[in-house]
Amino acid sequence: MSLAEFALIDRIRARSKGRDDIVLGIGDDAALLQPLAGHWLAVTADTLNSGVHFPPETLPADIGWKTLAVNLSDLAAMGATPAWGTLALSLPEASAAWIDAFADGFFALADAHDWRLIGGDTTRGPLSLSVTAFGQVPHGQALRRDGAQVGDDIWVSGTLGDAAGALALWQRGELDVTRPAADAETEFLRQRLLRPTPRVELGVALRGIASAAVDISDGLVADLGHIARRSGVAACLDASSLPLSPALRDGFEEDAARNHAMGGGDDYELCFTAAQAQRQTVDGLSRALNLRLTRVGRTTAHAGMHGEGSGSHGYEHFR
Ligand code: ADP
Ligand code: MG
Repeated sequence: MSLAEFALIDRIRARSKGRDDIVLGIGDDAALLQPLAGHWLAVTADTLNSGVHFPPETLPADIGWKTLAVNLSDLAAMGATPAWGTLALSLPEASAAWIDAFADGFFALADAHDWRLIGGDTTRGPLSLSVTAFGQVPHGQALRRDGAQVGDDIWVSGTLGDAAGALALWQRGELDVTRPAADAETEFLRQRLLRPTPRVELGVALRGIASAAVDISDGLVADLGHIARRSGVAACLDASSLPLSPALRDGFEEDAARNHAMGGGDDYELCFTAAQAQRQTVDGLSRALNLRLTRVGRTTAHAGMHGEGSGSHGYEHFR
């Protein structure tokens, strides 16, 4: 570890706040934490590599936000309350300006969720960012992938396909990720790609209501497939019911928009199953959280994953 890297760690440490349950934070060989009694720790790790998980020109503040967002999204999908975590940084060069901008995005999201950085690792290499995040969930109340029952409703939060739409525009050279777009619709899609909102409050609220949950990082079909396989049920989607944003409808042909919503990743919305008896409760949650929650299908006993809907909108995915 060079002097320059120590200086970077100091800049990060200066931004990280304390919490009563942190016995010892950044600066020793390991952090010491006091978890809540009667809770399980939920632990997850996700890495973002430049050029693979974000366009190489992405601004450091947006990289900082997304690095943490994808991890908090995993905690949300478990119904866990975010608590603490570590950050492993691989940087091509030791730049204080880059670190400060990265920290702006990273800690904006961390502070909003009272999530605290308690350690990490800093090395030189190709740009890569890896967080290990810990959350807490009361004994027995975690939202798992394997709890869906035959006949459950399938729900999704927010709107789907926005991030994939933004990525498609970027790939065509029609979107600059480094500056606000001229029109409000494109800017909405750009924000959905760069600054996803982890659905932490929803995940916590779904304890005792959802039978299974997953966050949508790889696309609805792929991620719902995880619930189906782990629960031993089939998933039947109604393609015509998928929640599409006005911006996505505006920017794409109907089929393309629907395909982004079905298969596009990076939205970080939650997909969950719940018994039909929970419909009113879920609708109440949607109002309480001011977050769109849409029923998009149901689980059945037949193997595989089926699509419903008109003509080419149907989607099938068997395994
Ligand atoms: P060690 O050599 O004992 O692993 P380091 O010199 O790598 O320790 O790190 C010193 C302290 O700074 C440790 O507490 C470590 O967790 C923390 N740290 C290092 N890099 C980061 C980082 N990117 N973010 C947060 N904390 C970090
Ligand atoms: Mg050490």
